[in-house]
Amino acid sequence: MPEVLVLIDHVDGVPRRSSLELLTLARSLGEPVAVFLGNGYSQARDVLAEYGAIRIYRDDRAEYERYAVVPKVDALTQVAGAVHPAAVLIASTAEGKEIAGRLSARNEWGLLTDALDVRIAEGRVEATQSVLAGNFTVVSTVSTDVSVITVKAGAAEAAPAPAQPAEQEIEMEFTPYATATRILDRTERESSGRPDLTDAKIIVSGGRGTGGDFSPVEALADALGAGVGASRAAVDAGWYPHSHQVGQTGKTVSPRLYVACGISGAIQHRAGMQTSKTIVAINTDKDAPIFDLADFGVVGDLFSVLPGVTERVRAR
Ligand code: FAD
Repeated sequence: MPEVLVLIDHVDGVPRRSSLELLTLARSLGEPVAVFLGNGYSQARDVLAEYGAIRIYRDDRAEYERYAVVPKVDALTQVAGAVHPAAVLIASTAEGKEIAGRLSARNEWGLLTDALDVRIAEGRVEATQSVLAGNFTVVSTVSTDVSVITVKAGAAEAAPAPAQPAEQEIEMEFTPYATATRILDRTERESSGRPDLTDAKIIVSGGRGTGGDFSPVEALADALGAGVGASRAAVDAGWYPHSHQVGQTGKTVSPRLYVACGISGAIQHRAGMQTSKTIVAINTDKDAPIFDLADFGVVGDLFSVLPGVTERVRAR
């Protein structure tokens, strides 16, 4: 069985859902080997084993914190040298793509980004990729021994391993290359207490149709325990922070339920949410393109529709 490296994306040791999806996916390709970098390993250990990591390489030095990608590339290069994996799986986030690009360039390994699915076909690792802002899907392989693959959230349903392997933990003494980048300062975003978009199972998003008033969108999100997303029009107008933007130049999300409120469904917005399992759209214009994509649609004013829906959800 080939070994497959999985870079664990986590918040203070709590693995993000995307990392559990990657471990699940890695099990279908071979044997998952986790790489955990940064603080909080004691929180992650049992979860990584539960999701099938046969081995965990770990290093908790502070260099990995604060969006410092080069030390992570150093560490992955070093682990890959010891493991000789068939593939390295990394979450398709802004940071994940930067790590993957550098890892690929440094080691001259082929790179596949934004994979919707990864499998072994005729002995090779093969990925289905979403390309050109989600307009096309292509099936690709690389010609190098190792494939570096960034995988979109929701590509696999995270599931614990049926039998937990006797995982082995290896504390690595990584020797990072000298990096020219130093983080001088960091500003923490105020937390809303709502789930992060890339982890959220439900997302309620607002667009220009909100006219800048996100209160009904947030109220429904809170009733559902959902994250709040926004279209670029809403973000550009200054109504919601860019960290909540969904789409080609925002985040790619794949929740179980995506509720688009006052969003027309431009191709660049769809690129970030069209792999959601169920899509509900609320829009005053019955011809809005979002309805071509939606599983359920309400033609109506979000300010009339959302309060009633929120009330019904709260009453359940
Ligand atoms: P609009 O297109 O103006 O749609 C508003 C909708 O709200 C309309 O359909 C209207 O019928 C409806 N509406 C109005 N009032 C109400 C009401 N009271 N109740 C219900 N419905 C109502 N966009 C993104 O979202 N994410 C991206 O990452 C992104 N990246 C881009 C990258 C590039 C290079 C470019 C060129 C564009 C990008 N865009 C992106 C912008 C994209 O093309 C659209 O302009 C944007 O998505 C439109 O946002 P919207 O749907 O909120 O606004």
